[in-house]
Amino acid sequence: MTKRVRIFDTTLRDGEQASGVNLFPEEKVRIARQLIKLGIDVIEPGFPISSPAEFQAVQMISRISEQVEVSAFARVIKEDIDAALKATEDAVKRRLFLFVSSSQVHLEHQLRKTRQQVISMAREMVAYGRQFVDQIEFAPMDATRSDKEFLIELIEAVIEEGATIIKIPDTVGYTLPKEYGRLFTLLRSEVRGGDQVSYGAHCHNDLGMALANSFEAIQCGADQVDVTVNGIGERAGNCSLEELAMLLETRKDAMDYTTGINTSEIYETSKLVSRLLNYPLALTKPIVGRNVFRHESGIHQDGILKHQGTYEIIDPAKVGVSREMIVLGKHSGRHAIKHKLEKYGINLPESGLDIVYNRFKEWTSSNKHISDDVLLQFAEVPRGEAALGGYSLVQTRVQSNVNKNVTVCLTLQNNQTSALETYTDSGTEVMETVFRCIRQAVPIRAILQELEVHILDHENGATACANVVLAIDGTQFTASSTDSDVIFAAARAFLTACQLVSHKDTEPVH
Ligand code: MN
Repeated sequence: MTKRVRIFDTTLRDGEQASGVNLFPEEKVRIARQLIKLGIDVIEPGFPISSPAEFQAVQMISRISEQVEVSAFARVIKEDIDAALKATEDAVKRRLFLFVSSSQVHLEHQLRKTRQQVISMAREMVAYGRQFVDQIEFAPMDATRSDKEFLIELIEAVIEEGATIIKIPDTVGYTLPKEYGRLFTLLRSEVRGGDQVSYGAHCHNDLGMALANSFEAIQCGADQVDVTVNGIGERAGNCSLEELAMLLETRKDAMDYTTGINTSEIYETSKLVSRLLNYPLALTKPIVGRNVFRHESGIHQDGILKHQGTYEIIDPAKVGVSREMIVLGKHSGRHAIKHKLEKYGINLPESGLDIVYNRFKEWTSSNKHISDDVLLQFAEVPRGEAALGGYSLVQTRVQSNVNKNVTVCLTLQNNQTSALETYTDSGTEVMETVFRCIRQAVPIRAILQELEVHILDHENGATACANVVLAIDGTQFTASSTDSDVIFAAARAFLTACQLVSHKDTEPVH
């Protein structure tokens, strides 16, 4: 029988505890709405007692959904519980989530309480909360480093007082899959009343084991798993929502678990969280990293162009990633270049392709990267026409000051007439102003969907790689550029993308 695993999202609580993250209530609401669209079961919107803004965020989120259950997070302290219950009182479905440390190292050095004191605090506060809500979740913090007998005693006590869900946190990311799994099995069988409650897993990624441990917990009876989008969270983060959801989805052949996650919303959610939390993702981050669906080696590109299944276990469309599978580098073959140019609407005869391929080989023998604009330049001669729409970037001049007054002056070369044309504009944001100048030369309707800039260190200086995505009527146009000057690289990528759009989109702007 298929087991439905419940997804408890703590992006807005544990995730927000990640170093350097601070979300305003409105931003939390935006993320919460997206999480609801994604199909999570339980949301933990914050820690209500910690600040008025947190309280407000939890309150706002409690009011937006009827399907998603809201977790009211509190220590075993009356004031915490009161704040958590007050903040969530408008939620259609809610639970009180209480936690207290259970490991000896926490008890001695942080909490400074005896085991008996911890048990009586937990008992008292579970009983207190039970008067107001039916669902009480309880977590012994640092459970995986706690003495098992004490853990059993503590959990028996809270179950007796009415706790309905027991969460076993691997607070410091220390446990191993087998160890963690055995703990769930042990509690279910040894704890008095342990088979009457449901169980949740909460894993941290300090040793890179969060997903493996969470998965093992599911196999050993956990009904619910705590996750965060992009795996953000304290230190090395939590079990990542997208990794868990796609593991269960992709390996359906080997197991029988489902979630309520609408996988096509994964990429959108990941982007939103990364943007609002100002937390960039590793290029290799499973499921949502930029390179995850990109192939550069000639053999892999050849395979993927013939049949996607050759080197991909997940269809990118399934997680909402638009396909950009071919990335050109020195390992790429003619086939990949042809494919890439076709994507831009450029169909070259074999002889033309030879010219481009030779120039490409020459370039990659002395350059680490080849950006789209360079490749497109290579293709211009065999196409027998001057440039896409016809502008090349010659110079960027930017003046900016502490008052955010920005003046930009761009020089573009009109490739048809070879004349230099100057465009100027001013504003408060440098890149926006640069892009407005370019739009003067190449007026398009498309909106800027993404600007990604990486500064790559080399032995002899730094190179900036800029990636621009423009969108128009649901179609995306991507262009990249590299240069030692970051603004120049971004401007050139934007110019290339604009020219691709105007090449395809004949509708003028007014
Ligand atoms: Mn945690």
